[in-house]
Amino acid sequence: MKLARFNNGRIGVIRDDTIIDVTGIIGAEPEEWPPVAMNRLIANFADYRGRLETAERSAQGKPLSQVRLLTPVPWPNKVIAYPVNYHEHGVEMNAAYRANNQGFFLKPPSALSGPADPIVLPVNGGRRIDHECELALIVSKEGRDIPREKWREYTFGYSCLIDAVIRGKEERVTRKGFDTFCPVGPWIVTEDEIGEGVSNLQGRLWVNGELKQDANTCDLVLDIPGMIELASSVMTLYPGDIIATGTPAGVGPIRHGDKVRIHFERVGEMTLDVVQGETGKRSIFVEPLPVDAKA
Ligand code: MN
Repeated sequence: MKLARFNNGRIGVIRDDTIIDVTGIIGAEPEEWPPVAMNRLIANFADYRGRLETAERSAQGKPLSQVRLLTPVPWPNKVIAYPVNYHEHGVEMNAAYRANNQGFFLKPPSALSGPADPIVLPVNGGRRIDHECELALIVSKEGRDIPREKWREYTFGYSCLIDAVIRGKEERVTRKGFDTFCPVGPWIVTEDEIGEGVSNLQGRLWVNGELKQDANTCDLVLDIPGMIELASSVMTLYPGDIIATGTPAGVGPIRHGDKVRIHFERVGEMTLDVVQGETGKRSIFVEPLPVDAKA
């Protein structure tokens, strides 16, 4: 099943090129704050599944072209992200470490944006801002110290994720935490549709039609069961938490006017505009860099 958020926070099931509104079935309030309808749906999915499948089979859908898709989980407890989790990306970044011994970092949930939203570049003194093509994993239920063999129980589904970043040596969250620096979408594909196949998914990213990243999840350094095991050994995972699983080689700059397309097979794809914004003027990036810092 493919689950999406759309328009003012409605919840839908995707069927081919249409979306079936299931907001009423799950009792969601579209404009609620905080926007946690999808978290509740994920946490209680077993209760709703039958009714959602009935709607998916028989209800009238609306063409996807007539709705605005939103990021599927806008208010997760956290976005966990694994750096340098493909060997060849480690080589291109000259990184001496890999995710299996370095661990993970967090992106702020406020950085999340959706498939219809542009990536807004902050004012940053001309520093390089890169795309990183990543598979997003959405957590299904609360858990701590999850053994790797139980990873599927704790996985709700998958989505496409771009981990945008200002290159440099400053704290990762400052370079990766800007609003719109974590597009996720276009929907969540539930775990049962992918199964063990998640360890063999091709992900690709294009900038203005030119293929930049093209890799398979079979080349992850720390695999998905390992990512769940490691993250949950440090912190409790909650329904709707997002794990950015790391980017392969081929990262590169994005600039005003670019169109970035990300595609994961069996999951979906989205194309985002990149625009120069006016925010970020007081960030550290507009000041000259210390001599020992490299962009
Ligand atoms: Mn990344």
